[in-house]
Amino acid sequence: MIEFFNTLTGKKEVFKPIKENNVSIYVCGMTVQNRPHLGHMRAYVMADLIRRVFEYNGYTVKMIQNFTDIDDKIIERSREFDMDYRVFGERYIKEYIESSLKMNILEPYYYPRATQHIDEIINLVETLIEKGYAYVIDGDVYYKTAKFKDYGKLSGKKIEDLISGARIEINPKKHDPLDFALWKKAKEGEPYWYSPWGKGRPGWHIECSAMSMKYLGETFDIHAGGTDLIFPHHENEIAQSEAATGKPFANYWIHNEMLRIKGEKMSKSLSNFLAVSDILKKVSPNALRLYYYRTHFRSPLEYDDGSLKEASSSFERMKRFVMENQSGADIDGDLFDELIKNLNNNFNSPKTLGIMFSAIKDANNGIRDKQITANTLRKALEILGFVLEGEKKEEISDKVIDTVVGIRDKMRAEKLFEYADFVRDELKKLNIEILDSKDGTKWRIK
Ligand SMILES: [Zn+2]
Repeated sequence: MIEFFNTLTGKKEVFKPIKENNVSIYVCGMTVQNRPHLGHMRAYVMADLIRRVFEYNGYTVKMIQNFTDIDDKIIERSREFDMDYRVFGERYIKEYIESSLKMNILEPYYYPRATQHIDEIINLVETLIEKGYAYVIDGDVYYKTAKFKDYGKLSGKKIEDLISGARIEINPKKHDPLDFALWKKAKEGEPYWYSPWGKGRPGWHIECSAMSMKYLGETFDIHAGGTDLIFPHHENEIAQSEAATGKPFANYWIHNEMLRIKGEKMSKSLSNFLAVSDILKKVSPNALRLYYYRTHFRSPLEYDDGSLKEASSSFERMKRFVMENQSGADIDGDLFDELIKNLNNNFNSPKTLGIMFSAIKDANNGIRDKQITANTLRKALEILGFVLEGEKKEEISDKVIDTVVGIRDKMRAEKLFEYADFVRDELKKLNIEILDSKDGTKWRIK
């Protein structure tokens, strides 16, 4: 049984999947206008934790995480850099994927990009116009917010309050200040796609509705993202999707709180910008993961260098204990169950880690068996996504290939070409290519 806090109902609920033993998850991915920073990564480590807990519990997880690769800021910033918006965004997509792989974040089923789903977006906007939830004005299309009676159900905001709180409208084209753009007419020199309303580009909110429903269906299990997206982004996703389909959009919503520096939300507009790839030059991916896990994702996380260093030494302490004491012996079933129980209860990583560290303390004080404790912790660390032997494994497998290639060289020297060719062909099946030359034999992974 997995239970967690659902933003939509405002309470902790037992998870009930749409399809038995399956869970479909959509995570709002990056808008690729800048380098992925520690605030972004918090959301993706949370999503990875959620996914790993579901998989440990026997679920098949289908996770979709998008890239928003067109929006006003991308256009603006790519111009500042005098770059094509696609080339500009691609750098950050690459940087995100590289950092994410280093962090041992499991790859999603697919990383859809907004610009590759323009047809789906246009179809969805057309449906909303047909159903009377959207209107066209001079090449722009707007959503009629007040027509969606459930508007505000995720954020708890009331339409009346929003109306009275709305600022003086700068866009006189909209019928109502609360209406938001589904499609934006292209200004001179901006990237555009053809649509029934003229040349333009999609609004941000409609992209996520179109991409999530394309890959996960009209109703899916879990939608995740940062609390800064609850309003208006996620509220608008619900309004668009439910108005178009007449069905519930996502059954559960999970949000992570913000990472802050000196009380401010980290964002590129503040000068407090910490790129993940820079941080990973200073601390290991394991240390960074532990750093995130020490605070529940539903609590704000205040960044400082000290606590990152502290996470690093904590991880080393945990790793040393496990590596020095692990054996082929049993695990402590009670301790392990306790760890899983806390993960299944709102993905409580800080509590789980707390129990793990106190188990180490007990083992060092002779209260627990060191080997059994180390084996138990090792299993838990793997479920949590930590990598204990990654580098070591890579080093060993390189040495094994060197050895095999060396044996093949000896066969060739003895003119046992048939055997040497057999070895070459077998290695080829493993995508290892042998390159014979005058200077000796080299190999590479294809
Ligand atoms: Zn989104």
